[in-house]
Amino acid sequence: MAQPKIDTSPFVSDEVRQTTCYMCACRCGIDVHMKSGKVSYIEGNRAHPVNKGVLCAKGASGIKQVFAPSRLKAPMRRVGPRGSGAFEEISWDEAFKIATDWLGPLRQTAPEKLAFFTGRDQSQSLTSFWAQNYGTPNYAAHGGFCSVNMAAGGIYTVGGAFWEFGQPDWERTKLFILFGVAEDHDSNPLKMGLGRLKERGAKVIGVNPIRSGYNAIADDWFGVTPGADGLLILALIHCLLEAGKVDLDYLARFTNAPLLVRSDEGAEKGLFLREADGKALVMSDGALVPFDQKGARPDLGATYQGHRTVFQHMAERYLSPDYAPEKIAARVGIDALRIRELAADLARVAFDEAIELPQPWTDFRGDHHASMIGRPVSFHAMRGISAHSNGFQTARALHLLQVVLGTVETPGGYRFKPPYPKPAEAHPAPHCKVTPGKPLDGPHLGYPRGPEHLCLDAQGNPARIDKAFSWENPLSAHGVMHMVIANAHAGDPYKIDTLFLYMANMAWNSSMNTAAVMGMLTDKDEAGEYVIPHIIYSDAYASEMVAYADLILPDTTYLERHDCISLLDRPISEPGAAGDSIRWPVIEPDRDVRGFQSVLIDLGARLVLPGFVTPEGAPLYKDYAEYITNHQRRPGVGPLMGFRGDGTEVGRGAPNPDQIQRYIDNGAFFQAHVPEGADFYKPWNKAYQDWAVKIGLYDAPQPYLFSLYSEPMRKFQLAAEGYGDRQPPEAARARLKLAMDPLPIWYAPFGDDVEGFPVHALTQRPMAMYHSWGSQNVWLRQIHGHNPLYVPTKIWKANGFKDGDWARVTSPNGEIVVPVAHMAALNEHTVWTWNAIGKRKGTWGLDADAPEATKGFLLNHLISELLPEKGDGMRWSNSDPVTGQAAWFDLRVKIEKTEAPREAQPAFPALDLKRVQV
Ligand code: SF4
Repeated sequence: MAQPKIDTSPFVSDEVRQTTCYMCACRCGIDVHMKSGKVSYIEGNRAHPVNKGVLCAKGASGIKQVFAPSRLKAPMRRVGPRGSGAFEEISWDEAFKIATDWLGPLRQTAPEKLAFFTGRDQSQSLTSFWAQNYGTPNYAAHGGFCSVNMAAGGIYTVGGAFWEFGQPDWERTKLFILFGVAEDHDSNPLKMGLGRLKERGAKVIGVNPIRSGYNAIADDWFGVTPGADGLLILALIHCLLEAGKVDLDYLARFTNAPLLVRSDEGAEKGLFLREADGKALVMSDGALVPFDQKGARPDLGATYQGHRTVFQHMAERYLSPDYAPEKIAARVGIDALRIRELAADLARVAFDEAIELPQPWTDFRGDHHASMIGRPVSFHAMRGISAHSNGFQTARALHLLQVVLGTVETPGGYRFKPPYPKPAEAHPAPHCKVTPGKPLDGPHLGYPRGPEHLCLDAQGNPARIDKAFSWENPLSAHGVMHMVIANAHAGDPYKIDTLFLYMANMAWNSSMNTAAVMGMLTDKDEAGEYVIPHIIYSDAYASEMVAYADLILPDTTYLERHDCISLLDRPISEPGAAGDSIRWPVIEPDRDVRGFQSVLIDLGARLVLPGFVTPEGAPLYKDYAEYITNHQRRPGVGPLMGFRGDGTEVGRGAPNPDQIQRYIDNGAFFQAHVPEGADFYKPWNKAYQDWAVKIGLYDAPQPYLFSLYSEPMRKFQLAAEGYGDRQPPEAARARLKLAMDPLPIWYAPFGDDVEGFPVHALTQRPMAMYHSWGSQNVWLRQIHGHNPLYVPTKIWKANGFKDGDWARVTSPNGEIVVPVAHMAALNEHTVWTWNAIGKRKGTWGLDADAPEATKGFLLNHLISELLPEKGDGMRWSNSDPVTGQAAWFDLRVKIEKTEAPREAQPAFPALDLKRVQV
């Protein structure tokens, strides 16, 4: 019988359009295959520097976002009570009229009463510019509840952090350690890097309470107790100092370890000894000299009139028996001998297996080096160590460990991606001065250098609704988004008029204390008016937050829009190249929606905001594409670096009307390569600094020393000790003295204070889902349809659990009843689950009996946004006291077996969002 002929490789497309993925934050290049004008298939762009053709499950499933039944269909106005789902469709003109009727008068009278906060969007350079020109101090993106401790800890210590700021030298590193990394962040690039390490036989170690994802392929695993990572890291530093295995030459040349710390009592105790022009001083060959003097040989062991070096303070602290592995092993949950072996491993690879590249270079002092020495140990960390109330100091400790090993910006170590390295001093300080009818006095977010940069009003109260940059969390570089709704509801520090949110599911998985937040959004005052009078929300999908909006501005999906992955924001650079990219509408929307960024630009023009109108008041830009092309942040420097001027200029150059088309023709990205000899030692390498100025990353060279001892933090401690004009409230002094220690320390997470809740409870995002929109994706739902609570063997046995059982999980804030599953590779005091799989019934276009809505659940219900009262008259937020980072992972619970209910508890009434979806 003749075999049937089957075409096993049919053409899936008649055209390929190249753009940038948005199914997570990695920004891989994608080839979108089109058939008859419709998206038929997505694959990785092989020429793209980020993913080199690799596509993950999320990226491939992007096609299902384009066809999702939950897509919003048109602008909507609420016509029933909040949460009822009663909306009516309106035109865009009507939507703009409502928005301008609310926001126009507000700008002229009290612009601070607009709170504008955004989620996991990638356009913060535009949104912050808009908010600044509107004049409200109340703007930030989602970093405060994500990983600001990682970002700020890195910036204040080494001028960059992990993930978007840099990456390991995958080709040379021999020992790679992952601290607290879930799989959603840094997805394809990290997987590709791990693949290279495995190919080369390099050793991978995971430090994480949970052995899943990347940790599952590690050669060794340390199941650390949550919140104790910092103690483990400082114990490793203890061992290295004890063994004399630290890179003294690197510390002396490139860090502030040799700077002299003033010991004289008074307002400058603990600050650096400086000469009259402010330059910090070191001892070199017995003489006091400026730290950057040519030929200086800074002496780590020197003293001068009783002032000792940072290095001596470090040695004194970390050689203390308090940091000996034997002393901290029980608290960390790892055997002392294993800690000592890990330290020995680090020392052996860094020093006995050091590498040397025959690449001459010149440092910022003008000293020539014949080669580049490499210490082939590298690290990566993320939210796991960050989302604790001690996360900032833990992030600082990890960078200190890297630096004492001499492994930052050296071959085989950790390499920055342009525009990093960029120290705190090269970033703006935060601004908060409000003048009705005028722009804010500068950028909202930044890096305070001392109490003078706090955002306080004339009475010393927080100037921002989220209390960012206040005494409660002075270095809150990304804002404190998780406190916005609670503070606005409480009128603390003041009431607001309009809450304007973009892509932030604050009525569900992005808020602590979810049920209470829903109450705050619907609560009314004595006059029967909503306590938060107006809520404007923009999203592409019918999320839980949509139900609580008064005005819905429907966004497009990522294949229907322009976007700009910019060096002004969060670019796609590699250690050896600056890079940026775009998205563009590979398809046109089939419903009445508009890209949020274009809507914001239109709204800015209708409100006649500077930066969005001509001097005559006409709109400056038709849409986001025009803004991307023509906006200049500084003369010649705009959102995109490539094809500027006549199309040949890079970084600096006049706007080019063909720029976006040139990007499209180039695969939607552009790269400018770091020149030879400039790609290591970047903070001090003259060749790199000069190149960075040439392409517009900086306006002048800005070499700096790694900040092992943080002078800005010491200034806050001095204020807490009573020095200076700006003084904290009494209740804040003890916290500041503890948390603002200028040398990395460890203290117990604040969540440990409660008794009777012995188990740590964590969440993480899975590899297959990054945005909360992932769990409505018809393909990705087949990977994670619901989320059990994973329980370690010891707790599993103690409770007599078996497969299919349910548990009641209780915290000081509430209780949930959820399905459990056994997991052996888990810290024995820890339970965990996937975050944001659980959905509220009636949302995201899912059926009411979808497993996400009946078996899926959130731990958020158990987490309070406020810490318990401690007798100091304050209710501190559940955050890191340095940055305000949401301390999600401080959660403590107790767990017991219970009868299986009909569905996971708490179960909320279904929302009705049928009217807003396609
Ligand atoms: S790693 Fe992220 S950006 Fe890359 S293909 Fe996957 S989802 Fe898209």
